[in-house]
Amino acid sequence: MRASAKVAELTREDLEKAVSKAILLLPIGATEQHGPHLPLGTDTFIAEAICELVAMRVADALVLPSVPYSYSWVWRDIPVSPTLSVGLFEALVKELLLSLDRFGPKGIVVVNGHLANANPLKYAVREVSDLVRTKVLFFSYPGLERFKMESQKSSLTLHAEEIETSIMLAVRPDLVKMEKAVREYPMKPHAYDRSALSLGSLSISGVFGDATVASAKKGEEYLSIMVDEIVATMAAEGLT
Ligand SMILES: [Zn+2]
Repeated sequence: MRASAKVAELTREDLEKAVSKAILLLPIGATEQHGPHLPLGTDTFIAEAICELVAMRVADALVLPSVPYSYSWVWRDIPVSPTLSVGLFEALVKELLLSLDRFGPKGIVVVNGHLANANPLKYAVREVSDLVRTKVLFFSYPGLERFKMESQKSSLTLHAEEIETSIMLAVRPDLVKMEKAVREYPMKPHAYDRSALSLGSLSISGVFGDATVASAKKGEEYLSIMVDEIVATMAAEGLT
């Protein structure tokens, strides 16, 4: 990374010079429970780490400050996991993208660290792309299937389990309490996804999978797959 690739650490003058060729990276996280062993900022730390790694590979990438609140409805009763409504979250992403477009960057890349945001994010990018010329890409844990196949994972979903815990061990080991990591594979009742019954009601610990087998090495391996996928897509779209 250059002296700084973080927008929040740069001046108006720095950015006036850089913006026309810049690719703006927007990390989107969440503030929500992640079981007994991971901090509430897990999704935000992961999205920020991915953006910072991409910025080390793409010369004109600049990392924006992250969005730390999003759609966390399933944990709305667990302190302190605030949620935006899905409509507000989608509107927030759209307004940010439209505002960023006014500066005339070369491109905007949204990196999402919280899977529940994936659909509203996709719709926001579609609608904004109808209105602007700036190329907008979005990523939610790219290469996950490839990583699962390679390491034969069988997690129900990506939440506080082996993969998320491994990434956190790679990027913020100081915040991971591995001695409290648990293994829980909640069953999905028939009414799941056919009623208001959500993942939040199914897991006792707040973990979906086996956090006890996480390792920094696995986290680094998956981070490099994600960064490779993002950089390859950016290159294919002329954003490197
Ligand atoms: Zn998470």
